[in-house]
Amino acid sequence: MPIGNIIQRDVILKPLTTMKTGGAAAFFAEPSSEEEIIGLINFAKENSLPYFVLGNGSNVIADDDGYDGLVIRLGNKMGEICVQDDAQDPEYKFITAQAGCLLSKFGNTAAAEGLEGAEFSCGIPGSVGGAVFMNAGAYGADISDIAVEVRYIEDGQVKVKEVSKDDFGYRTSFFAHEGRIVTGLKARLKKGDIDKINEYVKELREKRTASQPLTVPSCGSTFKRPEGHFAGKLIQDSGLKGFSLDDSGAEVSPKHAGFVVNNGGKAGSKDIKKLIRSIQDKVFADSGVKLECEVRFLGGKEE
Ligand SMILES: Cc1cc2nc3c(=O)[nH]c(=O)nc-3n(C[C@H](O)[C@H](O)[C@H](O)COP(=O)(O)OP(=O)(O)OC[C@H]3O[C@@H](n4cnc5c(N)ncnc54)[C@H](O)[C@@H]3O)c2cc1C
Repeated sequence: MPIGNIIQRDVILKPLTTMKTGGAAAFFAEPSSEEEIIGLINFAKENSLPYFVLGNGSNVIADDDGYDGLVIRLGNKMGEICVQDDAQDPEYKFITAQAGCLLSKFGNTAAAEGLEGAEFSCGIPGSVGGAVFMNAGAYGADISDIAVEVRYIEDGQVKVKEVSKDDFGYRTSFFAHEGRIVTGLKARLKKGDIDKINEYVKELREKRTASQPLTVPSCGSTFKRPEGHFAGKLIQDSGLKGFSLDDSGAEVSPKHAGFVVNNGGKAGSKDIKKLIRSIQDKVFADSGVKLECEVRFLGGKEE
């Protein structure tokens, strides 16, 4: 397959991440099939290039100097979603979504079908593939609660894995492993009361809007929840709510201390990383707790 014609050169990553930072990817492609993904991996191997799979860029900090490799972005060209009956049990339905489908679309589809269990996903700005990789979750539920099967590519082959909770951990999964690319999710959801489901979606959306800085560029929670603590609380207790090192725009959100934001969209990744490091140092000095990044780094060095 002539894969060359879908590969672009020097594509700026900044608009493709919710943090709104990042330089150019030397090579970039948005495949529309699993075959194209395999072709792209082969292209990377043949040219000794590293590759990085990007979803909706809502948990990625792309380096200011860009990425000297191939970014494979799974977006709406692989964004199909469909709902099917569960032939074994009329109380349930399956939703099958390609990796590039937005998670909010997945959650909204479930709600519109009167299916419960995916309400948590409506407000998470990732793709289905990124959500499986990260085991995204909120308000006491996550992907592991609803996933029954995941399609992925490994060693140049499409594989289908029946999954259970054991395949997922806190903000990680079996698929968060070098060389595994998620291409689709099949979830099983129970039929419920559509009005109650929509009411719950609305309630969660309102909670999010009230507590999170959703109008400022960010990656959501910057740090993982440390065992026995909340990252935001530790940061706040260290007096860092609203803190910034300089006027770069990199700032601890005054609304939610767990979010590092790019105020005004003018900061670079280096400013964000510098702030992250300084938060980690201060919190460690004050509490002895090491804050580990939940955000992932594309290119450059992890700070
Ligand atoms: C305002 C805001 C609120 C948020 N709230 C939440 C929340 O409540 N809960 C939560 O869990 N997260 C939350 N997040 C973080 C983020 O939305 C999730 O982590 C989401 O699952 C990331 O999906 P993505 O498609 O954007 O992945 P990306 O950011 O594009 O990538 C994240 C990681 O997944 C890998 N990846 C992406 N797609 C694939 C694939 N198809 N196959 C293999 N690897 C892949 C990437 O290589 C990268 O390492 C929030 C972010 C923002 C900006």
